[in-house]
Amino acid sequence: MVKCAFCGNDVEPGTGTLYIRDDAKMFNFCGLKCKKNQLKLKRNPVHTKWTSKYKK
Ligand SMILES: [Zn+2]
Repeated sequence: MVKCAFCGNDVEPGTGTLYIRDDAKMFNFCGLKCKKNQLKLKRNPVHTKWTSKYKK
């Protein structure tokens, strides 16, 4: 099972988006929300409450 690069949740096969960066590193995202937070807003999932990586 693939996990979302941002929130850490499982990505169901056939859903989500795959993003390949210029340096060929691949990111799987469960949805546009996670893609936007990672790539555009450059948020850290550890500090983002709704992710499963969030630590208090
Ligand atoms: Zn996600």
